[in-house]
Amino acid sequence: MSDRIPLPPLVFAPLLKRIRWGGRKLGDVLGKPIGDESDYAESWEVADQDGNESRVASGRLAGISLPELIATASESLLGTQVGMNQFPLLIKYLDANDWLSLQVHPNDFLARQFGSRERGKTECWVILQADPGAKICCGLKRGVTTEQLQTGLEVAVSDPSSHLLEDLLHIYPVEAGDCVFVPAGTIHALGPGILLAEIQQQSNLTFRLYDWGKLGSDGQPRPVHIQESLTCTDFARGPVFPVVAQQLCDQEHGFEELVRCEYFVVRRHTSLHAFSLLSDGRFRILMTLAGSGTVDTSTGAEALLQGGTVLLPACCERIRVRPEERLQILEITCP
Ligand SMILES: [Zn+2]
Repeated sequence: MSDRIPLPPLVFAPLLKRIRWGGRKLGDVLGKPIGDESDYAESWEVADQDGNESRVASGRLAGISLPELIATASESLLGTQVGMNQFPLLIKYLDANDWLSLQVHPNDFLARQFGSRERGKTECWVILQADPGAKICCGLKRGVTTEQLQTGLEVAVSDPSSHLLEDLLHIYPVEAGDCVFVPAGTIHALGPGILLAEIQQQSNLTFRLYDWGKLGSDGQPRPVHIQESLTCTDFARGPVFPVVAQQLCDQEHGFEELVRCEYFVVRRHTSLHAFSLLSDGRFRILMTLAGSGTVDTSTGAEALLQGGTVLLPACCERIRVRPEERLQILEITCP
């Protein structure tokens, strides 16, 4: 493979993760190849981590890993972002059927302070389905101090019936279509009954504050990292609500910009009719949230199927999305 050879649109084999809080919607709703178990929690769609490297699912590049593509076709894949030695974003679908642990991620600076080779983690969630009343935690109530949180965590462990901890957290119901932006340093947790798309920095650095009294798959409580968590938490941030999308339009269609931060830009397109996407020398990731269609580009075409993810290398030009029915996709780029 040479850097001169333009890459076609890429679909990777999903990396499925079974965790106690998972369910069956990754298969039943999003068409992932799950087995008989009822704990399918995460589908890693685009990943570049040791032991978790996405591989092309089919076509002439089948079996080639994302790091191999970066090593051999960096310019075609990354375009203006050439020079990166790791793919910058981690893209997942999640099926939460129970409370996930209460957690926080460091920012890039603190990740380095902890001696980690990983970057920090800012993430964003786009809710695909939510059972009535399904809740998330995102942020602390305004004014909560380190001491209050520490006490809340201690009381929660010694007296699980106490509501002291929950009273400090910003917990609220979400609906399908909500997008929640979770900057590094924001304490968060997902509750049961939520299927979502997750866009995050390529990092696996998580500090756990509390596991709601639940046990890990080995029957033991999972470790918590209180001091690290308190160090990473941005106590000034307060409660975090769903984003208010910015409405944009071009000659052909209207769309929404959900998030624009220093790590990623997330736009949501909903259309019955064909529309073009910008090609600007950056790679783009398309996640199909609903409906079906195709994406045509200068280097090839790929099907858009609900629950699928397509990586358009930076070399793809003349990008045309053709819905077969009402299609809703996320378009994810780096800024
Ligand atoms: Zn997280």
